[in-house]
Amino acid sequence: MTIPVLYSHHQTAQNPSSFSPSAAKPSIVAAALLEQGYPVAFQRPRPLLFSELCRAHDPAYVQRVLSCQEPNGFGNQDPDVARSLPYTSGSMLGAALAATPGMPAASLTSGFHHACWSQGGGFCTFNGLMITAAALLATGKADRVAILDCDAHYGNGTDDILHHRLDLAPRIIHRTMGGSRSQGSRYLSKLRVFLADIRSFNPDIILYQAGADPHISDPLGGVITTEEMAQRDRMVFEFARDGGFPLAWNLAGGYQRGGATGIDPVLALHLNTFREACRAYGLSVPPAMSDVTWGAQRSHSEDRW
Ligand SMILES: [Zn+2]
Repeated sequence: MTIPVLYSHHQTAQNPSSFSPSAAKPSIVAAALLEQGYPVAFQRPRPLLFSELCRAHDPAYVQRVLSCQEPNGFGNQDPDVARSLPYTSGSMLGAALAATPGMPAASLTSGFHHACWSQGGGFCTFNGLMITAAALLATGKADRVAILDCDAHYGNGTDDILHHRLDLAPRIIHRTMGGSRSQGSRYLSKLRVFLADIRSFNPDIILYQAGADPHISDPLGGVITTEEMAQRDRMVFEFARDGGFPLAWNLAGGYQRGGATGIDPVLALHLNTFREACRAYGLSVPPAMSDVTWGAQRSHSEDRW
């Protein structure tokens, strides 16, 4: 038994932002999963077609971003970012298709929920959550989709696209933790309400943004502790498991810096999410990152993908 993980180097871009590590984060997380012995099975995402991206975006916007005529969500026109974009949304859709009631799937992606119908922003260019939801609905893979966004920030792009795709809106429930300053136990109480809403909606699948930026030490977050974040993930995975809901999660935000990878605190939080998934679904749980000699092992696998 393994957790499907959607990743390839194609979904990674080189240093498009000096502040956000999100475009380089997938390869760092993938290497750590492999080296620390997580029970995961990597699958390569397929790049989405123009028409698939346009289910959630103005076609003119998609065309102009992909041809570098308009700034992407990082505010630049870097061809390497444009090249990666069909893969990042493809990674999320691939995870959704790989998830089952008995096993969730992960997409090593960030940069979705601030992407609006016809513009990007906040390190987000195309909204892989809405692109995935629209694809599942259009192809009959799902009749109802839940988007549970536990990033620190409000999923404004997701809401904006729902306003432009009113035909899809009744079949998608969107709950976003961002936009309020609920801290600690109040954050978890709010999550409980969202989970009850989702249970009532009875979706065919849950798309979960497991953002690391609500962390108390995050420069853009400051909301919950490491243990509370683990509790958040545990609540979500146990909810999906007990309800028989397939669940696909992605990395989303996280801006702490430090350590051998440059983002060790954020990496540890993303790995904690994997640990909670392992626990909830009865898989073996590797030791926490602080228990292993991290950094020295890293160079061996850097070019495996
Ligand atoms: Zn965020």
